[in-house]
Amino acid sequence: MIEATHLYKHFGALTAVRDVSLRAADGRITGLLGPNGAGKSTTLRMLYTVLRPDAGDALIDGHSAVQAPLEAARRLGVLAHGAGIYPNLTARENILYFGALHGLARAAARARAAELVGLLEMEEFADRRAKGFSQGERLKTALARALVHRPRNLVLDEPTNGLDVMAVRALRRLLGSLREAGHCVLLSSHVMQEVSALCDDVVVIAHGIVLASGTPAAIRTRTGTGSLEEAFVALIAGTGGI
Ligand code: ADP
Ligand code: MG
Repeated sequence: MIEATHLYKHFGALTAVRDVSLRAADGRITGLLGPNGAGKSTTLRMLYTVLRPDAGDALIDGHSAVQAPLEAARRLGVLAHGAGIYPNLTARENILYFGALHGLARAAARARAAELVGLLEMEEFADRRAKGFSQGERLKTALARALVHRPRNLVLDEPTNGLDVMAVRALRRLLGSLREAGHCVLLSSHVMQEVSALCDDVVVIAHGIVLASGTPAAIRTRTGTGSLEEAFVALIAGTGGI
């Protein structure tokens, strides 16, 4: 479970995130939905402890991202925006390397890498160097790497960016199975349809402010609109436009 409370972050004069609170529950997929520049990546980076909030905190299974960042990060798998994988390593070596960073013993890391290669259907390219991988192959490698230490919570920043239809389907299946297994999945997106299709709960953010949160149905009802897309437009319009 991920719980953010009153997060603030500014860069010079620009306040990127102002008073963001959100909760992503176990066994559910939560979508952080907002236009470009809304503050999604900044919020997620504070959750996964690479950015220290100016105020507020985030609890990862009860561990403070500010007070106990190592404890918090251990419970998180992270797919960062445009996450770089090492081009001179094979996909499997990329996974093993992250396993080592997380303190997994060699044999355990190898077993886990083999399991992930099977789970994510990576057999065909697992032992090729990542240099020249397709977007989908890169994503699967980055996802496997994020899952190597069996984190309870998974944070993904715009995971479907640049993916083809098949890769998106594979990602959906994987996130669905993580949800079934009781994991907490939090992803960001600026694509409404994606969030509608994937997420159990949605947090709408614009200009660094949370405009609404709840199930897609609850947000539609609250805004008196027929679709999440209309609800989103209505909410954004209320803040003076994108
Ligand atoms: P999103 O992920 O929703 O597109 P971001 O969180 O990346 O939005 O950015 C929110 C705002 O903060 C944007 O105006 C962006 O330019 C700014 N911003 C993000 N990171 C930095 C940074 N490291 N330095 C300065 N400004 C930043
Ligand atoms: Mg972003």
